[in-house]
Amino acid sequence: MDSQMLEKYARLVVKSGVNIQKGQTLVVASPIEGAPFTRLIAEQAYQAGARDVVISWKDEISAKIRFLQAPEEIFDEYPKWQKEFYLSYVREGAAFVSISASDPELLKDVDPGRIMRAQKAGNIALEEYRERLMSNRNPWCVVAVPTPAWARKVFAGLPEAEAVEALWSAIAKAVRVDTADPVAAWAAHKANLKKNMDFLNTAKFRSLHYRNSLGTDLTVELPEDHLWLGGSEYTPEGLEFIANMPTEEVFTLPRKNGVNGTVVSSKPLNYNGNLIDRFSFTVKDGRIVASKAQTGGEILQKLVETDEGSHYLGEVALVPHASPISDSNILFYNTLFDENASCHFAIGKAYPVCLKEGETKSKEELARLGVNDSLVHVDFMVGTADLEITGVTAEGAEIPVFRNGNFALPR
Ligand code: ZN
Ligand code: ZN
Repeated sequence: MDSQMLEKYARLVVKSGVNIQKGQTLVVASPIEGAPFTRLIAEQAYQAGARDVVISWKDEISAKIRFLQAPEEIFDEYPKWQKEFYLSYVREGAAFVSISASDPELLKDVDPGRIMRAQKAGNIALEEYRERLMSNRNPWCVVAVPTPAWARKVFAGLPEAEAVEALWSAIAKAVRVDTADPVAAWAAHKANLKKNMDFLNTAKFRSLHYRNSLGTDLTVELPEDHLWLGGSEYTPEGLEFIANMPTEEVFTLPRKNGVNGTVVSSKPLNYNGNLIDRFSFTVKDGRIVASKAQTGGEILQKLVETDEGSHYLGEVALVPHASPISDSNILFYNTLFDENASCHFAIGKAYPVCLKEGETKSKEELARLGVNDSLVHVDFMVGTADLEITGVTAEGAEIPVFRNGNFALPR
C-alpha cells in the first residue's frame, strides 16, 4: 500500500472507526509488524484531539515461545498489570483499536490445553472490559494489516514480498480505502446495509430456517425483541463508531434455547493460531450436543467446553454470497475477513445490544430473555452459494430471506 493510501486508512480508522473525540484516550493493540500503520493512527488521533494514544505492542513469536516453553502453571494466570491496564482505560471512556494480523498456523505445535487455559484466564480477567465493549459503552474498532507469515498463508504461491503486497491490496479493497473518498464510500455502504436491516426489523421473524447442500438444516428462533444491527453502532452518548472494518454483515442474536438441527461449516476457522476445518454441530434446544471436525477437532471440543454458555450460540449474521469480500474469492484465514464473506453464527456470548434496550438490562434479566452469556464469542462461517433461509413470522407466514446464497428481499 502506498503511503498516501496508508494515511487514508489510518484517518478512516480514527474518524469513522472509533470516531475519536477531543480529550479522549485511544488505546491501540498492535502487532510489532504493524508499527508503521500504528504510528500513523497515533498521528491522526492526536490531530483529531486525542488526549493520549497508548500502544500495546504484541509479538506473536514471543507469545509462541512462551506457549512452548513456559512452565505449566503460568497458563492459568493473567498478569495483574495487564488487567489493570485495560480496566482503567475502559472505565475512563477510552476508545480501542485492535489490529488483527496473525499467522493462521502460529500455534499448531502447541498443546491446545495450554492455549485454552490462557484464553480462559484472559477472558475471566477482562470480563468487565469485554462486557463494556460488547455493550457499546466504549467505541472500538478491529482492523487488519498484513504480516509476512499471514500473507504467505493466504497467497501461498507468491514470493513473500508479493504476497504481502497482494494482501495489502485485498485489505485496501475490503475497507474501501482504494476509493477517492473512503469516508463517503462507507456512508453509502452503511445505507445499503440499512435496507436489509430495515426489512428484517420490520418483519420481526420468529424463526429462521437454514438449509444447504453441505448438510446444514437448522432452525433458529429469535427472541421477541431482537434487533438487527449492522454497519455502524452507537455509544450510549450517541456517538457513532464502526466496530469492524471491513463489515458486510447484518446481525442479531438467537433465542438461547431455540436452536435445533445440524449446522455445517463452510470455511476454515482460525482460532488462536489453530485451524479448525470441515466441522459440524448437532444442536438441540440451543445446546451443542455433538461436534465433528476433520481438522482441529480437539481445539473445537475445548472451545465448546469453555463454560456452559459456550455450548450455545450467541450471534446470527447474514452476509450475501455475492458481496465484495466473498467475490474476491480469497480465503483470508482471518475471521475479520472470512466472517464478512459468509453467513455465520457465533459460539458463546450474545451482544446485549441486539435486544431492545438490552444494554440497560441486568445479567439475570438478559438470561431470562434468552440472551446467551459466555467467556467466549467465536464466529464460524456457514454461508454457501446455495444457502436458503426462510423466515417464519409470528403469524406463521413463511417468507424467503435468502435464496441461492443471497438476500431474496422485496426491493
Ligand atoms: Zn459477525
Ligand atoms: Zn461475532
